[in-house]
Amino acid sequence: VKARRGNGLCFFDPQMQTAISDRAQLEVDLKNALRQSELVLYYQPQFAQDSTMVGAEALLRWQHPERGLVPPGAFIAAAEESDLIVHIGTWVLQTACAQLLLWQSDPLCERLQLSVNVSARQFRHPGFVDLVLETVACLGSRAHLLTLELTESLVLDNVEEAVARMHQLRARGIRFSVDDFGTGYSSLAYLTKLPLHQLKIDQSFVRNLGVRPTDDVIVQTIIGMAGNLELEVIAEGVETSEQRALLLEYGCGYFQGYLLARPMPVEALYALLAQRTGG
Ligand code: C2E
Ligand code: CA
Ligand code: CA
Ligand code: CA
Repeated sequence: VKARRGNGLCFFDPQMQTAISDRAQLEVDLKNALRQSELVLYYQPQFAQDSTMVGAEALLRWQHPERGLVPPGAFIAAAEESDLIVHIGTWVLQTACAQLLLWQSDPLCERLQLSVNVSARQFRHPGFVDLVLETVACLGSRAHLLTLELTESLVLDNVEEAVARMHQLRARGIRFSVDDFGTGYSSLAYLTKLPLHQLKIDQSFVRNLGVRPTDDVIVQTIIGMAGNLELEVIAEGVETSEQRALLLEYGCGYFQGYLLARPMPVEALYALLAQRTGG
């Protein structure tokens, strides 16, 4: 192994090489994980102002045989470097829709919304619209229970194409939420062009509510704007009762965060629902 020599042609950075082969290994492991059903969805409940549970966000976890439960931050980015994210995203969508279908035969769950995260690469894949339409077919007229969470940058990267895709799915009832709202571009004009249902206030703003006055202003502005555009607004990362109280005061409609409930396996979600409805 040659060390870095400075002639520009023949450098070798062992650390970089390790990083590259780690990535490659991660990709191989992930492919196997998908095949061997090691991926699971956790569900983080979402609540209305009166604290009724109205839905959940599906959050991916990797149940690794040795490393235990691995959060998506450790592998989504690697998957996004290839079409592996398309395969993983397909599994997530199919699993989420199967869950929604199951919920339709349970009075406790039949009205629950389910939000699913969509990666840019997945959304732009030529087969995406057809895949989603096929996947929601089993839901019939209940396709509106599925919300796709898209980020601003995903949409703004190619607005025309995104709008066209979103309209095709919107026509079938599927809803759209702008995830991490407020963290991306400052252009707001695009908001009126998109068939949106919800804005999701990023947790970085929620974190400093009552602490950093500019964040209170930003949150109030987002909520006001959502109201004017007739969009739902949900706050994510709600961790304290003070944050929740301020959000309520500002008129935020929906809440998600550790204060209310952590992401959990579906069985735990059932237990929570039964407990809250006094069952
Ligand atoms: P995100 O979509 O912004 O999801 C919110 C993240 O915040 C989740 O992390 C959630 O567990 C965490 N969270 C929820 N409440 C609180 C809170 O009160 N405080 C704090 N500090 N954090 C909270 P998670 O599950 O680790 O997911 C991280 C990111 O991975 C997600 O961010 C999303 O971008 C991505 N992701 C998760 N599942 C999927 C998936 O199925 N597909 C794709 N493409 N991306 C996914
Ligand atoms: Ca999300
Ligand atoms: Ca988010
Ligand atoms: Ca985020």
